[in-house]
Amino acid sequence: MTAARIEASDVVVVGAGSGIGRAVALALAERGARVTAAGRRRSALDETRDLGGSSPGRIDVCELDVTDEASVTSLFGRYGSDRQLDGLVNAAGISDITPSTELEDEQLWHVLDVNLVGAFRLSRAAGRVMLPARTGSIVHIGSLTSSLGLERRVAYVASKHGLLGMVRALATEWADRGVRVNLLSPGFVSTAMTDKAVRSRDLDRGIIESRTPLGRWAEPDDMVGPALFLLSPESGFVTGAQLAVDGGWTADIGFRPERRLDE
Ligand code: NAD
Repeated sequence: MTAARIEASDVVVVGAGSGIGRAVALALAERGARVTAAGRRRSALDETRDLGGSSPGRIDVCELDVTDEASVTSLFGRYGSDRQLDGLVNAAGISDITPSTELEDEQLWHVLDVNLVGAFRLSRAAGRVMLPARTGSIVHIGSLTSSLGLERRVAYVASKHGLLGMVRALATEWADRGVRVNLLSPGFVSTAMTDKAVRSRDLDRGIIESRTPLGRWAEPDDMVGPALFLLSPESGFVTGAQLAVDGGWTADIGFRPERRLDE
């Protein structure tokens, strides 16, 4: 989106039926963009469209599973000579919490298929329409685990580290043809994904708050400004970057030399 502004842009948001993807889709429509809200669940996507009903922009809904190449190709087939694709935000993702000695191949492949291969399928399809137009911005959602480890999440951590590598590789390959690719890496955000882990006691809200320098969980809306920045011409010289939106988590060594964190 080097020439166009957000208000006049045409953006695909994947995983737009909930959480971060929904917040970004609604914010884009609020600013006048034409948004294709894509994801697995039709009812959730319809809800996103209805929530954005009074926006100056427009939200169209498209059922898509990132593990299904045909559905990805079909969505991006809407773009081309008579319709320019300015941006792609990929917020589709799944988590898996399993001790590594119990993790089956099938589980590992599934997480990689959604979080990493799915992200590649989307990038490839977007690249095929953005590169000939010599413009476009692609934003994938990484994680603290794009840079750091986390116990019992080997599939998730591997997928998110892979995403960082993929973003860097695509950014360097496509930079001279006007397409930028970046990673937005949130800290802990209150969404369906983390609510589930809190309910199953795999995450403790208080521990996350005390470990986060800004002292709170993020809300999906905290991701909106950084995502819009990466989509907009304001970030025209930013590609292959990882933007941490983590309340200071990765800036912090993670312990207080003078006291225990849980005190
Ligand atoms: P979420 O569960 O609300 O959103 C994930 C979305 O991905 C859902 O809408 C889901 O339907 C969609 N999705 C899952 N599998 C899909 C598939 N095969 N095809 C298409 N869509 C699919 O949770 P969220 O927190 O908004 O997650 C968005 C992204 O942010 C994910 O990549 C997640 O890993 C990442 N993230 C979340 C947090 C957090 O704390 N919530 C932190 C770091 C990164």
